Amino acid sequence: MNIQNLNCLIDLHLHLDGSLPLHTVKELAEQQGITLQMTDGELKKKLSVPAGCRDLNEYLTKFEFPLTLMQTPEALEKCMHDLLTELEGQGVQYCEVRFAPQLHTQKGMSQNEVIEAVKAGLYSVAGVKPESIHAGIILCCMRGSDNGQQNKITVEEAARHLGSGVCAVDLAGAEALYPTEQYADLFAYAKQLRIPVTIHAGEAAGTESIRAAVAMGAARIGHGIRAAYDAETMELLKEHHITLELCPTSNLNTKVVDFIGQYPIRQLMDAGVAVTINTDNMTVSDTCIQHEYQLLADTFAFGDTQIKEFLYHAAEASFTTEDIKQLLKARITYTF
Ligand SMILES: [Zn+2]
Repeated sequence: MNIQNLNCLIDLHLHLDGSLPLHTVKELAEQQGITLQMTDGELKKKLSVPAGCRDLNEYLTKFEFPLTLMQTPEALEKCMHDLLTELEGQGVQYCEVRFAPQLHTQKGMSQNEVIEAVKAGLYSVAGVKPESIHAGIILCCMRGSDNGQQNKITVEEAARHLGSGVCAVDLAGAEALYPTEQYADLFAYAKQLRIPVTIHAGEAAGTESIRAAVAMGAARIGHGIRAAYDAETMELLKEHHITLELCPTSNLNTKVVDFIGQYPIRQLMDAGVAVTINTDNMTVSDTCIQHEYQLLADTFAFGDTQIKEFLYHAAEASFTTEDIKQLLKARITYTF
């Protein structure tokens, strides 16, 4: 199977601010009167991590510049429109795009206005034609010390927009600095409001973070790769039917593993944990979903059987309606 020809791909874990197409960044800068004065190569360097990136904390600095451009409704609508258009061209049939509304309020937008703007971008591409990409929005709460009120608003906005564009909430940010269990009350509130939950865990911290996320009601775990080093944690994930959103290149960037051959995906699969393949940040990590699949296929000799299995897990774990899940699965079955 040639991955470049697949039109049934699914990406459940990608961040809007880390995945802006280069042309979008250039156009937004121009519209906002910012002179970049750099070649495309230099701009790419500014937006992507270097080969020698040290850890997640250094990785997160690459979001600073794109975020400055994403502070108006017009800019946000364009970002979502351009990203979904690009994904559709890459054979993605379904994706869930995530962002933290509280990071887009620097020029006075409310979190609700931020969400409305991204939704406008979503509805300008998703579902426009019968063969169009399907998409959902995941709202990220942020790890931090003084943003409790903003996180609470994010959860409340997720409840308000749930089922109309928004499909879940997440917890993102510096995992090693702000432990997952500090957010137990916030996610108890999300549970009370019946919002599906995914949490970044087991990326920059260990299995205790994954266990905390499970205890807090996460249906999926962002990354969770460190579970592979602990049989009990893998058992826990299986018991709770939790799907992992693996992002291999991103994990290479943040030094979870030193080289791709070390990536413990086989251990997870052998233990029966449901795993999916995702990009995390297409621009920051300079990747795309096709590349992620190709990388794993080349490294671990995965063929149609494994690729189909990853896609099935993704369809099954997607935060969408039963009708769309059936559509996604039908296209996967037809393709393979
Ligand atoms: Zn992520």
